[in-house]
Amino acid sequence: MTCDDLLHEVVRNIENPVDAITFTPDLERHYRHTISAERRRAMLTAGGIALVILGLFAAEYFLIADPGRSPANMWGWFASMAVITVLVLIFTAIHAFVDSALWRDRATIAVLLFLSPVVCVCIAFGDPVARPAGLFAYVLMPIACNTLVALHFRQAMLVSGASLLVFVVYLAMLPEVAIDVKLQAWLVCAAATTMTAWANWRTDRGDRIAFLWLTRERLVAEMTQRRAEELHEMSKIDPLTGIANRRVFEERLGAHARGETLALIMVDIDHFKLFNDHYGHLAGDQCLQRVARALAEGVRTPDDLVARLGGEEFVILMPGLGAEGIMPVLDRLRRTVERLAIPHAGVRGDATDVVTISLGCAVAQPESSEECRALLTRADRALYRAKNEGRNRWRLTA
Ligand code: GH3
Ligand code: MG
Ligand code: MG
Repeated sequence: MTCDDLLHEVVRNIENPVDAITFTPDLERHYRHTISAERRRAMLTAGGIALVILGLFAAEYFLIADPGRSPANMWGWFASMAVITVLVLIFTAIHAFVDSALWRDRATIAVLLFLSPVVCVCIAFGDPVARPAGLFAYVLMPIACNTLVALHFRQAMLVSGASLLVFVVYLAMLPEVAIDVKLQAWLVCAAATTMTAWANWRTDRGDRIAFLWLTRERLVAEMTQRRAEELHEMSKIDPLTGIANRRVFEERLGAHARGETLALIMVDIDHFKLFNDHYGHLAGDQCLQRVARALAEGVRTPDDLVARLGGEEFVILMPGLGAEGIMPVLDRLRRTVERLAIPHAGVRGDATDVVTISLGCAVAQPESSEECRALLTRADRALYRAKNEGRNRWRLTA
């Protein structure tokens, strides 16, 4: 999804929510992907907490509980606790090693569904007749499903509901336990399921609302930033020719390293007014575009800058080039434009002439911004000479 699409989806979900805990399919996918890493960490923590709790139960059973219980019960209880521990370890391993959030969720649901009857078996081996408090330990199941394990609301409802159902069946299969104890245990469990379901709903909803608004804020900020960058880039470009504009030239001239050689070339199209008068303004614009492209392609290093000063005047900055080095460049640029062979009716009005340029160049090692600016005046004077001496030529002041 692009930024625009995502923002559109987010706004749609804010203004017309599907329901309190579901997004539209595209956004739902994006949401689950976004929170995936955080949920994974939460699940791993949940696995750790569950293991500590299991350890405490084991310690209580072996160290504190009445040692008079039968060995059969003890080994049965031990075996079912081992199965629960293995299931918790499987759960933890899934979240540690499976990368797909979808499959992690599915596996979590499967583990929890499988865990419910195993916990019932464990309670059965824990002798619920002699120690009915063990029945109430089942309350940990809905608490785990709805709060400890970070399942989405509907998933949490599925497993905690199923777990409550398993507990009813289990209680029905315990003839020795008094009915009031069973009822109490089940009620406590149902109450815990309801309360934790409510907590899960609020958390899920809160997370989603926070996600919507934070995503919206982030996207708007990103788009504003991007737009500002685009505008900044646009502010550097001459819209007609697509090359740098006067602003970039001024900045580059101002930033020139003091004392380093700099060649500054002023370029002006010859008799351009006549060209416009003869071929029209639109053809004039196209001519400017072609000349600009030719000049931009005529410079060789990324440090060189070709900018349009305005009208049919261009300026070229070539750092590091002295008087000797610049002469062939000047002639090459002059010939490049001439070779474009853009027809120009010329001063006499016959169509045998082509568009040409005159160039004025100044070279120096400016020590200050004033000296940099003086370079521009000198180049302009050189250009004036080139014009006066017949055009389609270059003049250099070293
Ligand atoms: P010279 O050889 O002495 O430079 O003569 P010139 O006619 O080129 O110079 P002048 O400065 O008299 O005319 C420049 C012309 O450039 C005038 C104007 O119509 C034209 N011009 C300036 N900007 C644009 C533009 O963006 N598009 C077009 N088509 N023409 C432009
Ligand atoms: Mg001019
Ligand atoms: Mg001109």
